[in-house]
Amino acid sequence: MKLIKTTLSAIALGAVVLAGPAFAQGKGTVGIAMPTKSSARWIADGDNMVKVLKERGYTTDLQYAEDDIPNQLSQIENMVTKGAKVLVIASIDGTTLSDVLKQAKDKGIKVIAYDRLIRDTPNVDYYATFDNFQVGVLQAQSIVKALGLPEAKGPFNIELFGGSPDDNNAYFFYDGAMSVLKPYIDSGKLKVQSGQMGMDKVSTLRWDGATAQARMDNLLSAYYTNKRVDAVLSPYDGLSIGILSSLKGVGYGSGDMKMPVVSGQDAEVPSMKSILAGEQYSTIFKDTRDLAKVTADMVDASLSGKEVTVNDTKTYNNGVKVVPSYLLKPVVVDKSNWEAVLVGSGYYKKDQIN
Ligand code: BGC
Repeated sequence: MKLIKTTLSAIALGAVVLAGPAFAQGKGTVGIAMPTKSSARWIADGDNMVKVLKERGYTTDLQYAEDDIPNQLSQIENMVTKGAKVLVIASIDGTTLSDVLKQAKDKGIKVIAYDRLIRDTPNVDYYATFDNFQVGVLQAQSIVKALGLPEAKGPFNIELFGGSPDDNNAYFFYDGAMSVLKPYIDSGKLKVQSGQMGMDKVSTLRWDGATAQARMDNLLSAYYTNKRVDAVLSPYDGLSIGILSSLKGVGYGSGDMKMPVVSGQDAEVPSMKSILAGEQYSTIFKDTRDLAKVTADMVDASLSGKEVTVNDTKTYNNGVKVVPSYLLKPVVVDKSNWEAVLVGSGYYKKDQIN
């Protein structure tokens, strides 16, 4: 009898254990479409989203598209077919998803644009991101600080890089940066020797570091054979690495050729190491744990019919409508504060960086 009892309670216990995850799955599946694994930030975004959503009882379907637009489209189509309740999408090209999002809408699936705005469709419900204009402001302010402007007389030579022209964020970063740099360019304290200004001239398709490196090579050989470049506005760490290799290739960073001030974004480990080595000057930290949490809150609220918390209902017009957004605060990081910001917050362990 005792044995039977024990066996029965073991079975009952097993049933409880089995019921645990099955119950948890009851909240449904969230499809998460990420652009690429080639940058560590998106890997962290995917991991954090899965972690938070699982903790809250959802099943997740996380897909990376390796920066291939048709690939991302078919991944999202699959999520719709398989019955996802919500789609969380960090798009590669924010303008190419209209058809699949119409299908999603017809099935009652909620759509959240993750970090990058989805454009030209009414079928995007919310947008979770960072204050993208402020990212550009911070990048430019850090260049201004490093050059000692407004006190220093200059003039200093600067070249400008933009992000991918199919990513809405790239325009916000550029405009934010130019809101700080343009007065110095107008007054002649900053000079763009190439004359290349405006996203139509400075963008970098797919945020590709090799493309940025090639453009920097061209700029250096066309405009800087007998001049020094003092600063480079770079919107993303992956581009900064390409730009820095180009600069090193012609001798900057050795002997008496001081490295120009180079900005960045995402606080990726290789760039943090570069900052500590005195090459890259600064980067922008965007805490992907917070973005995952805000996005999961949107998932929860929209599925339970509760009001979704947003803090911006003006800025992000996607060409069809203004998408209600939640903007998180980006933080500038350089040699002086990296430990407090990145290690202090538990985002990195100190020995990952130095
Ligand atoms: C993100 C940036 C990132 C860039 C390249 C942008 O949409 O907001 O954080 O540096 O894409 O991946």
